[in-house]
Amino acid sequence: MLQGLMMDTPLLITRIMRFADINHAGREIVSVTADSPRHRYTYADAFVRTRQLANALAGLGMREGDRIATLAWNDHRHLELYYAISCSGSVCHTINPRLFTEQIEYIVNHAEDRLVFTDPMFVPLLEELADKLPTVEAYIVLTDAEHMPDTSLKGAVSYEELLAGEPGEFDWPEFDENAACSLCYTSGTTGNPKGALFSHRATVLHAYGICLPDVMSFSERNCVLPVVPMFHVNAWGAPYGVPMTGAKLVLPGPKMGDSEALHELMESENVDYSLGVPTVWLNLLAYLEESGQTANSLQRVCVGGAACPASIIETFDTKHDVYVHHAWGMTEMSPVGVYNSLKTGMEALPADELLQVRLRQGRGLFGVEMKIVDDNGQELPWDGVSFGALKVRGPWVVSAYYKDDRPAVDADGWFDTGDVANITPEGFMQITDRTKDVIKSGGEWISSIELENTAVNHPKVAEAAVIGIAHPKWTERPLLVVVMRPGETISREDMLAWFDGKVAKWWIPDDVAFVDELPHTATGKLKKIALREQFADYEFPAGSES
Ligand code: AMP
Repeated sequence: MLQGLMMDTPLLITRIMRFADINHAGREIVSVTADSPRHRYTYADAFVRTRQLANALAGLGMREGDRIATLAWNDHRHLELYYAISCSGSVCHTINPRLFTEQIEYIVNHAEDRLVFTDPMFVPLLEELADKLPTVEAYIVLTDAEHMPDTSLKGAVSYEELLAGEPGEFDWPEFDENAACSLCYTSGTTGNPKGALFSHRATVLHAYGICLPDVMSFSERNCVLPVVPMFHVNAWGAPYGVPMTGAKLVLPGPKMGDSEALHELMESENVDYSLGVPTVWLNLLAYLEESGQTANSLQRVCVGGAACPASIIETFDTKHDVYVHHAWGMTEMSPVGVYNSLKTGMEALPADELLQVRLRQGRGLFGVEMKIVDDNGQELPWDGVSFGALKVRGPWVVSAYYKDDRPAVDADGWFDTGDVANITPEGFMQITDRTKDVIKSGGEWISSIELENTAVNHPKVAEAAVIGIAHPKWTERPLLVVVMRPGETISREDMLAWFDGKVAKWWIPDDVAFVDELPHTATGKLKKIALREQFADYEFPAGSES
């Protein structure tokens, strides 16, 4: 093979940092933190402190490949940790503080984290666990001396004291682009969490991918607010894609669940692009409705992590003139797999057809190959109807889980996402279920997600889940479980009548159960396993059969 004669420059995250430092030195990073309602500095300031932190890490004896954990919200200190840890060759292990304590214990021990950087808020949680975390040598609290809590944690010191006096120069090492840079465990609804170990190369390529014009399309002129946590698959890549383009970065700190604070932050900082899971947007839209306000600066929103209900797209569009992009991905994919941007001429589609296109999770971006297969592994056509197991392949998809000898991919290198999907001839993919949640009725599959989306579009319904219940004749039939909006009620018959004409007749659930709340995982996804346990003894009422 004749080799090309281009430089073999390793794709290191360090290059994103250097680029932003040189080209966008004066661009702002604004954060809310536990100790400051509005912290403001520039990329240049951030990277001076990143170099100070790298010196401090070296002083603590951290070496290449060591895992260093963070339990932190989205703020400037967490951003500094992202870069200082990864660029000095260690691995930034972001931990979701909402996981069960046993899961946190499991993953810190599995990762063998040597240091833990924590928000002050999680100090009591760690104090409870510390005895069971033998590999952790010291805990650094993300605050200053003045706000440092009293704590029994080993080696506890405030972040600002750790940085104080460290030189602002650091000689960043060069290493193989396939070196690990960060680690994120899946929130897994069954078994122990599994570690996705990202490499510098994958992270840089993923950052290029998400910045493309038909994807997040970041530019220097944007102001981006990731509401998705930095512990949820690196905030979907925003902390890399944003500095790569020099956009302004706004980080909401512990306020990400507070719609009033989020709205105020967006308006005052001129945020025009934001990313988050559907719950964030449902809450923000409800707050805007109640308070009679609008989202003025916001122009585009990326919704992912769970299916985007039509009401989010429609309300943002009609009341706030904000364009919603649906997106799909997973921890094992760094995470972005598809993104919904229209193709030429689609704007002219009739409104309901256009909405159906926009409700799809999106189309592939360069860097991710997709296919759907049937139970026998046979590839299914992209006809928008056939649905099967969704498999993916590409440079930012896992090949194996951390410390697991088995490959996570099949013989041809495809990773089974565990999702079920169909794909239109134009390449727009739609998730119809998780493989284990799909309802098998009379030899055919029913999409629980489509039924849930239809139910949630009812104005009186706050949240809905659909599970398969064993049925003597049909194998399984769908049961709808709903949470009503506060003060609202609806009869079983009216709820079921809502599905008429919206889904195939044989898909309509056989019964409705009204509950006060639904079980969720630590990342806010419906926990169907718990729901199935809750309804393990449920039987359809006589005569409910479709
Ligand atoms: P996680 O690794 O925790 O981000 O979870 C990934 C899983 O979340 C995917 O495999 C999907 O089942 C689900 N998911 C992510 N985005 C979407 C979406 N836009 N619509 C439906 N499900 C989604």
